[in-house]
Amino acid sequence: MNKQFEHTLPNSEGYFGEYGGSFIPPELQAVMNDINQAYQEIRQDPEFVAELTRLYQDYVGRPSPIFHAQHLSQTYGCDIYLKREDLNHTGAHKINHCLGEVLLAKKMGKTKVIAETGAGQHGVALATAAALLGLECDIHMGEVDIAKEHPNVVRMRILGANVIPATHGRKTLKEAVDSAFQAYMADPHTQLYAIGSVVGPHPFPMMVRDFQSIIGIEARQQFQDMKGQLPDHLVACVGGGSNAMGLFSAFLEDSNVAMHGCEPAGRSLDEVGEHAATLTKGEPGTMHGFHSYMLKDDKGEPEKVYSVASGLDYPAVGPQHAYLKDLGRVQYGVVSDKEAIDAFFELSRLEGIIPAIESAHAVAHAINLAKKGSKGTILINLSGRGDKDIDFVVENYGKQYGIASLI
Ligand SMILES: *Cc1c(COP(=O)(O)O)cnc(C)c1O
Repeated sequence: MNKQFEHTLPNSEGYFGEYGGSFIPPELQAVMNDINQAYQEIRQDPEFVAELTRLYQDYVGRPSPIFHAQHLSQTYGCDIYLKREDLNHTGAHKINHCLGEVLLAKKMGKTKVIAETGAGQHGVALATAAALLGLECDIHMGEVDIAKEHPNVVRMRILGANVIPATHGRKTLKEAVDSAFQAYMADPHTQLYAIGSVVGPHPFPMMVRDFQSIIGIEARQQFQDMKGQLPDHLVACVGGGSNAMGLFSAFLEDSNVAMHGCEPAGRSLDEVGEHAATLTKGEPGTMHGFHSYMLKDDKGEPEKVYSVASGLDYPAVGPQHAYLKDLGRVQYGVVSDKEAIDAFFELSRLEGIIPAIESAHAVAHAINLAKKGSKGTILINLSGRGDKDIDFVVENYGKQYGIASLI
């Protein structure tokens, strides 16, 4: 079998230890069972594997290189490498699983993919894959987010997707989820709900991980070829956890490779609604169709969360991360808004690479490890590029970092 799809977990019910599973209405469970069965067949189908491999190479531009960040390394007295997912077509790792999901939808005979999006990153990646593979694409998005994330809304529409505004309640991500879910339930047979990270009911945490595992498979080989050994440390940011699982999954059995996930501490780790550090501050619970660590309010509803990186502000986390945390196989830490923005400028100015603010969290975490005296090589998953963030950063942090307005 293709190495990309060789994993022992989850079990057949979608459990990683006590986490994961599927907590959804019976009529939706039947649909998930279909998706799971189709995926189990398709992932062993040489034609599917060959087609996905071809798209990864010729469309996304894989393999993404590993770059030795020498100036950053010198500055912090350590040895830092970057896995350049920022160089992928569309500028981040999300295209890896969106292509997999849309290809699966197509093989299942579905005509449309559907999803919600907050900042628009998942929406753009899905609209791209749908355009390429000839499926319709409906992206549900809160009205407030549509106004805030205008460039991504324009991108999706240019790519031929329908952007459907969620107009009730606070008109942001939660309402977009409701709206997309309702539209999906109206017709779950001709559409596939394409989840945007390693979250949701089984089989999505497994499936999205498998599609992202190309990151770790490449990185392991590339690093071995470059250095004659594996990295001592891996670092990745964790929102839902897909880019981190993509990197980590190839190294789980390499006991001398330490793994570090970092969550957003936002403005304050001590105040509810000011961070999104699910594994650090949350507790086990069930929401959005699966069991994992979550940030919940008194009523068990998703807690308000915040991060300067809109891709990281999610009140739950993929179940495999919860499992790896309890096992102690991955160490999860936090990075504040300020540390992430510092790292955003540091990487830009030392290496000429503008990272996504999400990825800047991982850079900051690696810098913190180096400052604490971690020895050996550190491989950071640079999950995306920062083009989407430049206006926001200049407007909110420009003065502090010496970029005076020119107009
Ligand atoms: C969406 C996003 C993330 C967070 O999602 P994960 O599923 O945790 O990987 C991280 N980095 C970038 C660039 C993103 O767009």
